[in-house]
Amino acid sequence: MGLKLDLHGFSNREINIIYNMVDDYIKLMKVDVSNMQLTIANIPARVCPITCPKRLNVWLQVDCAIYLCHQTNYWCQMIYQLAHELGHFFMKCYPEKNNFKWISECLCEMCSIVFLYRSMTFFKYFEPSYVNSAQGYINDHLQKSLSYSALTCSKLVANAIEALESDPTENGTVGRPRNCYIAAKLFNAVGYDAMGMSAICLFEDLSRAETVKEFFDMWLEKCRSDDEMYFVQTIRETVGI
Ligand SMILES: [Zn+2]
Repeated sequence: MGLKLDLHGFSNREINIIYNMVDDYIKLMKVDVSNMQLTIANIPARVCPITCPKRLNVWLQVDCAIYLCHQTNYWCQMIYQLAHELGHFFMKCYPEKNNFKWISECLCEMCSIVFLYRSMTFFKYFEPSYVNSAQGYINDHLQKSLSYSALTCSKLVANAIEALESDPTENGTVGRPRNCYIAAKLFNAVGYDAMGMSAICLFEDLSRAETVKEFFDMWLEKCRSDDEMYFVQTIRETVGI
């Protein structure tokens, strides 16, 4: 896979899943991560998972560290958390401007759903009983978003834009129902093969944008393929920007 992984606090089964998942992620992102070092550790006592790039944490010995906090061998929870944090890793933890962070948070949440679906293919061969668990985990998660269920995604974004900009991570809210609802809508629009999802690697200098519209214009301009352009357009239409 090229990327040097350094794992702490995982069972052998979890390590197997992580290697498969990271490999799949890299292929989807079409990005060169050879020579990069990533530490992933599970610290169940943490309150929430976090991604720490060296850029913002100069003390780090590696390029990036991801800390998860799933219960041991609760694979769906691990995949959900890790897929979200790997999203931040591939975005290089951009955009930095606070009023654009909801875009990356909702996309990372979408990555969780994408990879839970993709894990079903993996589990079909290695752990068939887990195929249903992955679906059940997504359903449970979405149950928390029921209060939004009458809204289209663009309507929700329009109604909640101030909250999205000031509180992109839904601080203190269990299950992040708002972001999860938006993520599920994004997932419905892009599907689990997530063509063009590598566009999330292009966030690095989009913080220069002044408005969300400008952010999407600049993002679209940076796309390297028709798939990426299609992906960005689809996301843009779904959130109604
Ligand atoms: Zn996040």
